[in-house]
Amino acid sequence: MANINNTNGKTRVAHVAGGGFAGLTAAIALRQNGWDVTLYEKGEELRAFGAGIYLWYNGLRVLEGIDALEDVLQGSHTPPAYETWMHNKSVSKETFNGLPWRVMTRAHLHNALVKRAEAVGVTLRTNAEVVGATADGQLKLASGEVLEGDLIVGADGVGSKVRDSLEFEQERWGATDGIIRLIVPRHKDKLGHGEWDNTIDMWNHWPRVQRILYSPCNDEELYLGLMAPSADPKGSAVPLNYDVWVEMFPFLEPCLADAAKIQDARYDTYQTTKLDSWTRGKVALVGDAAHAMCPALAQGAGCGMVNAYTLAQDVSAAGSVEDALPEWEKRIRPITDRTQKMSGDFAASRGMSYGNQFTETVLEAHRFDPIRGIYSWPQ
Ligand SMILES: Cc1cc2nc3c(=O)[nH]c(=O)nc-3n(C[C@H](O)[C@H](O)[C@H](O)COP(=O)(O)OP(=O)(O)OC[C@H]3O[C@@H](n4cnc5c(N)ncnc54)[C@H](O)[C@@H]3O)c2cc1C
Repeated sequence: MANINNTNGKTRVAHVAGGGFAGLTAAIALRQNGWDVTLYEKGEELRAFGAGIYLWYNGLRVLEGIDALEDVLQGSHTPPAYETWMHNKSVSKETFNGLPWRVMTRAHLHNALVKRAEAVGVTLRTNAEVVGATADGQLKLASGEVLEGDLIVGADGVGSKVRDSLEFEQERWGATDGIIRLIVPRHKDKLGHGEWDNTIDMWNHWPRVQRILYSPCNDEELYLGLMAPSADPKGSAVPLNYDVWVEMFPFLEPCLADAAKIQDARYDTYQTTKLDSWTRGKVALVGDAAHAMCPALAQGAGCGMVNAYTLAQDVSAAGSVEDALPEWEKRIRPITDRTQKMSGDFAASRGMSYGNQFTETVLEAHRFDPIRGIYSWPQ
């Protein structure tokens, strides 16, 4: 491990708020660069929320950089193609010119990150709710504790207390559509004709707007994302309304029957957050705290992990954290901003439904290699 000292010759101290994908990545990467790192999670345990997740080349390179890739590859899935269906007919099959991508359960990714954080020596504190931070490097907990650090990372999600306590200027808005996300058994042998190892993005615009993102995560587990407008009481109902979904997607009947049994299913709408800045003094925001985005391009976590990883690279290479943070934001933020904008536009237009939308421009964030700081795909 590198020996990163502050100007007094002491090991530098980082406090990370939030134990999601962005916070864990920042904590591991900082620790690997020699920092003394403590992560504070308000929950009773470190665990993932949601169902499945897509990681692309950028996120997979972060995992490589923090030595968690092998763990994640075992028990996750690369679909042969990303297929788009409109009214149950295939309109495109995209393979992204060989760009690496992977689908997995959120628990699988989160477990691998927690294991890696423990292995490198991050101090993990649960039941530790953060209530705010100061620009000169204090993190405040609900318990009344005030921690001093050389760097404070706000990775406490879309409702970030770190962000709000520092009064960053922000715009926040929601989208028309929302989604029920579930993990169910695959039932591959019962689904009839179809290439059921593919991701299949199944859209219907008529008679109602209903979409299922069908995503195998491994041999046993299937991630179903059931999208409907929030104004549609039947499509957004939880536990899910079996009749409404099976009428539109009859070939998924065995999976939908299992999905309808899940009593604690949630219908989530999408949030977008845009800030004037991601940094203030010794504080940096990463992940949804900084840039929550619509999931159309499946990049919220990917960008969050890249930003967390590059943050650790940049502050570790610099003498002054306060000088390094604005430079880091200037270097890395434009990719996230453009991706957030494209994702929001796709969500508003439902344009992914026409297929063949993953152009080189649209895949900008996906193709970025954070280890080398360049777009290394296509090669
Ligand atoms: C429907 C949908 C599908 C998506 N699909 C993808 C996808 O396929 N690929 C992708 O890359 N992204 C995807 N995303 C985006 C992705 O889920 C998020 O961007 C990502 O999970 C954000 O991670 P995070 O660590 O920033 O925040 P979070 O996951 O929200 O983690 C924040 C953590 O901080 C903790 N916390 C909160 N407040 C406090 C506090 N005050 N004190 C201490 N701890 C606190 C929380 O308990 C939580 O553990 C999707 C999003 C949605 C809505």
